[in-house]
Amino acid sequence: MAEERKAPEARNFIEAFIDEDLAPGGAYEGMRVHTRFPPEPNGYLHIGHCKALCIDFGTAEKYGGLCNLRMDDTNPAKEDVEYVEAIQEDIHWLGFDWGDRFYYASDYFEQMYRCAEDLIRKGLAYVCQLTPDEMRQMRGEVGIPAQCPYRDRPAEESLDLFRRMRAGEFPDGSMTLRAKIDPSSGNFNMRDPVLYRIHHAHHHRQGDAWCIYPMYDFAHPIEDALEGITHSLCSLEFEAHRPLYNWVVEHCDLPSKPRQIEFARLGIDHTVLSKRKLRRLVEEGRVSGWDDPRMPTLCGLRRRGYTPKAIRSFCERIGVAKSDSTVEYAFLEHCLREDLNETAQRRMAVLRPVKLVLTNYPAGQSERFPVENHPNRPEDGTREVSFSRELYVEADDFLPEAAPKFKRLYPGGPECRLKGAYVIRCVGYTADESGRVTEIQAEYDPDSRGGDPADGRKIKGATIHWVDAATARTAEVRLYDNLFSDPDPDSGDKDFLQCLNPASLEVLTDCKVEAALAEAQPADRFQFLRLGYFCADSRDSAPDRLVFNRAVSLKDSYKPKL
Ligand code: ATP
Ligand code: MG
Repeated sequence: MAEERKAPEARNFIEAFIDEDLAPGGAYEGMRVHTRFPPEPNGYLHIGHCKALCIDFGTAEKYGGLCNLRMDDTNPAKEDVEYVEAIQEDIHWLGFDWGDRFYYASDYFEQMYRCAEDLIRKGLAYVCQLTPDEMRQMRGEVGIPAQCPYRDRPAEESLDLFRRMRAGEFPDGSMTLRAKIDPSSGNFNMRDPVLYRIHHAHHHRQGDAWCIYPMYDFAHPIEDALEGITHSLCSLEFEAHRPLYNWVVEHCDLPSKPRQIEFARLGIDHTVLSKRKLRRLVEEGRVSGWDDPRMPTLCGLRRRGYTPKAIRSFCERIGVAKSDSTVEYAFLEHCLREDLNETAQRRMAVLRPVKLVLTNYPAGQSERFPVENHPNRPEDGTREVSFSRELYVEADDFLPEAAPKFKRLYPGGPECRLKGAYVIRCVGYTADESGRVTEIQAEYDPDSRGGDPADGRKIKGATIHWVDAATARTAEVRLYDNLFSDPDPDSGDKDFLQCLNPASLEVLTDCKVEAALAEAQPADRFQFLRLGYFCADSRDSAPDRLVFNRAVSLKDSYKPKL
């Protein structure tokens, strides 16, 4: 029975633990693996959460188990329905589903409260009247135990005070409920940790029903146990809290005994992965919103052009480790490029256009070329692109005179191919008084239709992309670079706002794109030949005002480490 539920592929350390638990004689022999993803609804999900999502949902999936979605809303401040909805949308977009198992931690407040009363009655918790400052001063040091004058107060007295705490008789900060564990523990989380504090605050779901709120370390194991979670997978900062998690599971009367396993948090260079910092970027207007395409949030990545497949592939390949490490942003981009190279249809667009006039092409004539949508996917079919005497090409595909290694357009230069159309040779150009090139002139070879000359001669110049001026659509194109120029803006006490890259966004407003792109939808991703992968901006693009985001350039700066 348990055998069948083993993950088929190579095991990471979490799976190795789970295998042990499911094996004959293991703690969960014969049980179905049940995990949960517990976001705090105080911000949008970011790429770090994707790692946790892939581990929580992915592990359950591998074992044919279940994964719950639980809003960790035990803290009354800062919560917002906007976030709750966005979190659900983002998780579905990534391709994970919690079925009908969507929960709010705050729905368990009553059960938590009962657990607390129980602990008091068992002599395992007491009401403490130290102020937060006093508590800090009396917490002791390594080798010096913590002290608390209220530790031995009779259970009935604690019970009475705790009930009055709940009834709202005492102000914030005047009392706490503490677990009675071990004042001399080397693990400070076990030195009579606080389980409840008084906080007269409105809760977004509970309203004013409560003025005492449970601490995370007390609430979380209870939530897990009430939902029948077998494996509570969380990031490494909770490792030192595990003994307390186990203590709660052991001493409270709960329907099941979940096991906590920690994995390393994901860090990525050139960005920050903390909701608090991301929120500051939004609130201070450093970015246009949570979904600014430069943000490492899921909605930002989606708007930028990322696919669920690329993000999940990234999370799978960075692996599940036990020690924190930073992954290169370039690797995330590498995963996107890999996906889009396979799936994105090809189109032509010119970002910095200059007019190219074919002096020997009859004025008023035009023709259409069939062009394949994807070089390796015949099933994607072909489309027609129009061609006429006047075209647009990239300004940097031209130089007024020859330069070393430059094999594109310059007067008297080599023959070049216009992608899929004709062979041309540059014969001249026009510039304005400032020297800016306003027009390039070239002659085309009528016997090279489709791009290859009839006589089979070798073409020495490059193949360049182009757009027919007669049918081109004007578009805005947004090019993005790292949001932070500092590779490690998230570290220590660095002021991350000082690390922002002033050149993270470049907006080009007079780009020329082929007519077929007028129909582009945000979910469509394209490779613009020679330029990168792009998608229509989901907020700003409209049929009469095309706006494209560059998801990623073509050049791969990721170097796999051997
Ligand atoms: P933040 O510091 O961004 O506010 P958080 O840990 O407070 O993050 P939660 O909403 O509590 O955010 O996170 C939900 C789950 O996602 C938790 O289990 C947490 O461990 C996990 N998680 C958050 N950030 C990362 C990360 N960078 N890498 C891996 N897992 C993460
Ligand atoms: Mg948190």
